[in-house]
Amino acid sequence: MRAEARIDLDAIRDNIAAIRARVGSAAVMSVVKSNAYGHGMVPSARAARAGGATWLGTAVVEEALALRAAGDTGRLLTWLWAPGDAFEDAVRADVDISVSGAWALREVVAAARAAERPARVHLKADTGLGRNGCTPADWPALVDAALKAQADGTVEVVGLWSHFACADEPGHPSVPAQLGEFVAMLAHAEGRGVTPEVRHMANSPATLLLPDTHFDLVRVGLAGYGLSPVPEVGGPADFGLRPAMTLAANLAGVKRVPAGHGVSYGHAWIAPAETNLALIPTGYADGIPRHASNVGPVLVAGRRRTIVGRVAMDQFVVDLGDDEASAGDEAILFGPGDRGEPTAEDWAAAIGTISYEIVTRIGARVPRIHT
Ligand code: PLP
Repeated sequence: MRAEARIDLDAIRDNIAAIRARVGSAAVMSVVKSNAYGHGMVPSARAARAGGATWLGTAVVEEALALRAAGDTGRLLTWLWAPGDAFEDAVRADVDISVSGAWALREVVAAARAAERPARVHLKADTGLGRNGCTPADWPALVDAALKAQADGTVEVVGLWSHFACADEPGHPSVPAQLGEFVAMLAHAEGRGVTPEVRHMANSPATLLLPDTHFDLVRVGLAGYGLSPVPEVGGPADFGLRPAMTLAANLAGVKRVPAGHGVSYGHAWIAPAETNLALIPTGYADGIPRHASNVGPVLVAGRRRTIVGRVAMDQFVVDLGDDEASAGDEAILFGPGDRGEPTAEDWAAAIGTISYEIVTRIGARVPRIHT
């Protein structure tokens, strides 16, 4: 085995069940965009449904349609689309669609007419994230246009929603500010006659730390995969979560080299003494960050070691010192951590990123083994 990502589907199911228990009467949406954060979209979505996710969320229409093609029939929201995307297919496939502004509403209305059925839409409020979403200034016009389309029978406004910028930074002043803005925008829409089935705002950090933000539905991505969105507050176990992904590879070889032996491109590491080097056959083409050169942690031959030299496209090297190992022995790059292996969070800390990026970027060449 060159490298494989082992996905513990029971962990995903149990994580979603734990989140459900935490949020009381709110429903849970499992966010399965980007190949379920690298975990494999369809099997992960099934596991999330088994854990009680009554909603799934995707970024792009193609992801939502792939879930439908795989037989998912539950509630499904897609939110990040561009002019010309397959809205008509989405409407026909009963996919709920986010609408952030007038042009988006026009596209959805046209799709609904072509599909000869109303489109279910969630109006998205930009309460302070500053990406997509409708600003407070433009909100009254969007609400009125959506209500008109609803009266014409082309849309049903089933959701009002927003997204946080800084929910992973406890105490950040933007969190209450965004929440207050959302409450005001909800009040405006409901005052005009919108009767949403779901109002939703919370991502994983808000779901775990901010009960006031749960409304009718929480949208959890990272936490469902068993990773903590707030590692400085607590690890997965502190929130009743279990990491679902283990990334492993078999050693492609081990060799003894003398002091002064340079390793990998640029000789960014030179052996200070005679040592054993293990070759791991996976690299940045598989999503192993090149920034992990000389710092990434790996469990090999029973101990945590450090990558030496640059991570290359398809391989990297780990220094074993005088310890021995053989070609074919297993190396674990990250996993839940219960066998002494590093975690995705350890990788994130080593290279100055977030665990979201570590798991999501694991590439298509790495098979996902779902158990
Ligand atoms: N909601 C939206 C709109 C998102 O884009 C995302 C992911 O970025 C999520 C929810 C889930 O975020 P998290 O993984 O922090 O739960």
